[in-house]
Amino acid sequence: MRMIDRIYVDGEFVAPQGDEHFDLFNPATEEKIGEVRLGNVEDAQAAIAAAKRAFPAMRQTTLTERIAMLHRLRDAVLAHADELTEAMALEYGAAPSFLAFAAPYAAGVFDAAAKTVSSYPFTRQIGNAEVTMEPIGVVAAITPWNSSNGFICSKLAMAIAAGTTIVIKPSEMSAIQTQTLLEALHEARLPRGVLNVVNGYGNTVGAELSRHPDVAKVTFTGSTGTGRAILRAAAETFKRVTLELGGKGPQVMLDDANLDEALPHILAAAFRNSGQACIAGTRLLVPAWRLDEVCARLRQVVSAMKAGPSSDPTSDIGPMVSARQWERVQSYIRLGLDEGATLIAGGAGRPEGLERGWFVKPTVFGNVTNDMRIAREEIFGPVLSVIAYENEDDAVRIANDTEYGLQSYVVGANETEMRRVARRLEAGRVLLNDQAGDYSVPFGGFKHSGIGREFGSFGLDAFLEPRAIVG
Ligand code: NAD
Repeated sequence: MRMIDRIYVDGEFVAPQGDEHFDLFNPATEEKIGEVRLGNVEDAQAAIAAAKRAFPAMRQTTLTERIAMLHRLRDAVLAHADELTEAMALEYGAAPSFLAFAAPYAAGVFDAAAKTVSSYPFTRQIGNAEVTMEPIGVVAAITPWNSSNGFICSKLAMAIAAGTTIVIKPSEMSAIQTQTLLEALHEARLPRGVLNVVNGYGNTVGAELSRHPDVAKVTFTGSTGTGRAILRAAAETFKRVTLELGGKGPQVMLDDANLDEALPHILAAAFRNSGQACIAGTRLLVPAWRLDEVCARLRQVVSAMKAGPSSDPTSDIGPMVSARQWERVQSYIRLGLDEGATLIAGGAGRPEGLERGWFVKPTVFGNVTNDMRIAREEIFGPVLSVIAYENEDDAVRIANDTEYGLQSYVVGANETEMRRVARRLEAGRVLLNDQAGDYSVPFGGFKHSGIGREFGSFGLDAFLEPRAIVG
């Protein structure tokens, strides 16, 4: 049983003033594996005060010093990659493919930030003005549970690159992963107060970070509803706000797609991170004339996908993070049936042979129309909806007929055609045949998927304020 009873403030692990406890579970077994003692509003205030004290020295650091900090952070994560992976397997239970990606990714974002900052134009001459990009001030970061350490590291990396200080409130459901990460990051010897992390609930610690006058910027990754609450709270003191929110990504399969090549891309985009991914491509748009063929192949391959624990190398889909998330996904599968969609694979209930653990069956619905709730709302589980289209205009219309606009996909054989369709999609990113971008490609959403961009020079811009000295 793990007891997480420390938060990280001013360069030290300290006991929080809050004394509420939150139970931690292994989602693959439903067993309680630990408890975290949560911080409260006073803890958030102490962390903000530490970040504020550290800011004047941090803003004076040279680029060489910041790059050295980023490299030390990268090395600290790499040195503890095995423990980080074990903590994630225990507390989150990701499928082996996502587990293998997570720790190298968390280290990689520090490297990417170091590269971005080394070529970033901090000083620009514009007309008769010298424009300098200035560190924004204390940043608050609020992160979700579905790739906890990745989000913490990417937001921390940009704060360091920009020369500012940060207070992070991770998801309370990720406390073991957070603690393991912090023990690693502590070894990077950042100046005191540059990094502060307070475990706590959203409506206490998160809300305080979103309203406190000494916080200059909030960077948030999570649900659209929470993003709206943060934006409102932040408005009072005109905080700069970056929001990375939900998605309902379309995958547009073109007429010429070769199914043998396309299916692995389609399945990866739909079921990555067990479907608990904002970037999941959960609406598959298929030419009507190929619908039967595609549904038949999906039935075959998705029925053969395996839900199971991280410890089983053949698992394709891990458990849902919590009982609540399991029930949410179940309710959407029942809803799909009620709405008249056709079950192609999966369905409600637990996968055969898994009596314990918050496992769900990877599920595909056919006969879906884009007005059904399963096609409009983010399910955040391994549930794919197949929607037929008549021609390219129809495909683009359906793809863009959503409140969201985070990540879309085009799957096909002809690059020119794929690019033509991609240019018509309203999304912050469009992946061609599921090819991943590197860590400096801007990431963020159109419409209700968010505000602003993370990563690379666009991400760094959002941690800086331009100052023009004219004449
Ligand atoms: P969530 O919005 O419930 O919580 C995210 C974080 O916000 C948590 O740390 C939570 O404690 C905190 N929070 C909750 N209420 C708050 C409040 N009133 N003020 C301040 N903070 C508050 O989201 P979740 O369930 O943890 O994560 C799943 C959601 O995150 C999905 O909707 C998913 O699409 C989204 N997500 C988006 C991205 C992206 O980059 N766009 C990435 C991953 C997840």
